[in-house]
Amino acid sequence: MSDWVQKAEDQEISRLVNILDIKKDDNEKSAESADTASAAETSLLLKIIRKGLVESNLDLEIQRKDPKSPLHSVKTFEALHLKPELLKGIYAMGFNAPSKIQETALPTLLADPPQNMIAQSQSGTGKTAAFVLAMLSRVDTKLEYPQVLCISPTYELAIQTGEVAARMAQFCPEIKLKFAVRGEEVTPNSKLKDHIIIGTPGKLLDWGLKYRVFDLKKIRVFVLDEADVMIATQGHHDQCIRIHKLMREQESLENIKQYYVNCMNEEDKYNAIQNIYAGITIGQAIIFCHTRKTAGWLAGKMSSDGHSVAVLSGDLTVEQRLAVLDRFRAGLEKVLITTNVLSRGIDVEQVTIVVNFDLPMDVKGNADCETYLHRIGRTGRFGKNGIAINLVDGEKAMNICKYIENHFKKSIQLLDTGNSDEIEKIGY
Ligand code: ADP
Repeated sequence: MSDWVQKAEDQEISRLVNILDIKKDDNEKSAESADTASAAETSLLLKIIRKGLVESNLDLEIQRKDPKSPLHSVKTFEALHLKPELLKGIYAMGFNAPSKIQETALPTLLADPPQNMIAQSQSGTGKTAAFVLAMLSRVDTKLEYPQVLCISPTYELAIQTGEVAARMAQFCPEIKLKFAVRGEEVTPNSKLKDHIIIGTPGKLLDWGLKYRVFDLKKIRVFVLDEADVMIATQGHHDQCIRIHKLMREQESLENIKQYYVNCMNEEDKYNAIQNIYAGITIGQAIIFCHTRKTAGWLAGKMSSDGHSVAVLSGDLTVEQRLAVLDRFRAGLEKVLITTNVLSRGIDVEQVTIVVNFDLPMDVKGNADCETYLHRIGRTGRFGKNGIAINLVDGEKAMNICKYIENHFKKSIQLLDTGNSDEIEKIGY
């Protein structure tokens, strides 16, 4: 870079810092959000100043759950089978080929069934363009309500992202975008018709929860931009978690039939599982145990009964866990017995039944509703119907079960696994 360019950029930075410093005095901002602003400001400055793409293979990290092909990547935008209007938009922006992060992330971001993803790479490598493309691709313009939510840490970054979206969607006039940032107001209880909302956490929470101008449970794409900045700031962290939780809780349990079985002890629980297997056809099952010891014991019993069983527990290395999951996803094992390590982070379409061999509880022995949700959310995914069975032995477990039932306000029905007619019914 020539000195001249460097100098011009330095001046630009100092001008922007001045602008942002003035904004910082804004009495809307708490001491806490000032911290966010500084990390977010740096990111904004880099975004504004950077004229083009930073080509880099370094600092690129992606965590994803792609059951089919984790190493899949594309070298051209055409290979992504985008809507032609979006492809036109990308080319109009002067993008010829995907950057490294786009090449690696876009197949997952656009995959069906949808996948979750965390991606990290240095500033200017094309992350924003990647997730904006995913946001635009997933909009169904026939539905006139918000389906995509993007949270940014600051006003300025939200606007930047919105501008990228508007440019990329320049040939898709039917896609509507709304900013949820300071200065934007809505009439409480009116209904937004825009497909995409980009905003800051507090404003989004107000709109979704207090004013109810959009339905959080209808959100299909959730983007947390600058996630590291967000989670490092207490206020934002809490708001983001709340927004995400509201989306999940509402979406959950709708298509899952929940049962509990009264058992006397572990042997009895095992019998219940045997009876269920005898009564209905089960694609794949995940069974959650509280301890590794129980998981190992149960795996031994089920294997000797002829089931193909895999065990996943916290003592395995990450590579070993991935290998177990890959085999399970490929259908090589039909039963996965696991301790809590798995409760979040697995999408296996074929899982028809989740069994809580032990009910989830926290360290104090109280019902752990969030873990319950994550566990049984492993079944009934992608709009399919799922079955969740809770094996209850004794009063304490029963209390946990009742607590969970009240918490989610969804009935958990008694199932008599000694009665084959009853078991048959749960299969439908
Ligand atoms: P990040 O979010 O990682 O900081 P951006 O998505 O903002 O990166 O991209 C940085 C710059 O590179 C922007 O000016 C953007 O328009 C440009 N850019 C992004 N993807 C491409 C691409 N595939 N080809 C050319 N330029 C690109």
